[in-house]
Amino acid sequence: MSYQHQDWQGSAIDLPVGKVVCIGQNYQDHIAEMRSQTAPDALFFIKPATALCALAAPVQIPTDRGAVHNETEIAVLIGQTLSQASPAEVAAAIWGFSLALDLTLRDIQASLKQLGRPWEIAKGFDGACPLAGFVPAALVSAPQQLQFSLQVNGQLRQQGDASLMIRGITQMISEMSQWFTLQPGDVILTGTPAGVGPLQPDDQLTLQLLPWLSLTTRVTSRSTNAAR
Ligand code: ZN
Repeated sequence: MSYQHQDWQGSAIDLPVGKVVCIGQNYQDHIAEMRSQTAPDALFFIKPATALCALAAPVQIPTDRGAVHNETEIAVLIGQTLSQASPAEVAAAIWGFSLALDLTLRDIQASLKQLGRPWEIAKGFDGACPLAGFVPAALVSAPQQLQFSLQVNGQLRQQGDASLMIRGITQMISEMSQWFTLQPGDVILTGTPAGVGPLQPDDQLTLQLLPWLSLTTRVTSRSTNAAR
């Protein structure tokens, strides 16, 4: 796998490929659809760099490990090192904004949750983070008002509005940086709105980040030789 960060026009970005730090339960409507409780502390988790792949290539999903759910999320590319950073320091260190799919093996995640076990494999498997190209931060005057959507086979499945995030972008990244030093080339996923659901091979996906990105891709199956 040879993923490299790209800008929204397809040019390579001169940053290494790092980890992906994610927030769960950051939109009220998604918390409701999952019948989860709102907690005062943020839920952070990490996908390894090997989860990253280009969204424009077909999105390969495992088909022998239960349901794979879409979670469409605004992605943030970190341009400078952040450790215990303030929201203002975060704002100055953002390279740009894009969209990602936080692919989730939902059946596996549910059974691991039931056992009280960590659910990393459900979120961090190879290819679990298809990512589009990044729009430079200088072009995005109001990131906390970004709007985005996912259509599956022409039907609207998810519609997101960054103004509805429970934790705003710079606030969540500031909190993440209290735990994890963020390095140039790391990616932040900012949570999914309602509308998560299973993807199937041959689904056609259209992701939009207004007004910059409109990207159509296709789902294919990936054999995993699962030792299960
Ligand atoms: Zn997510």
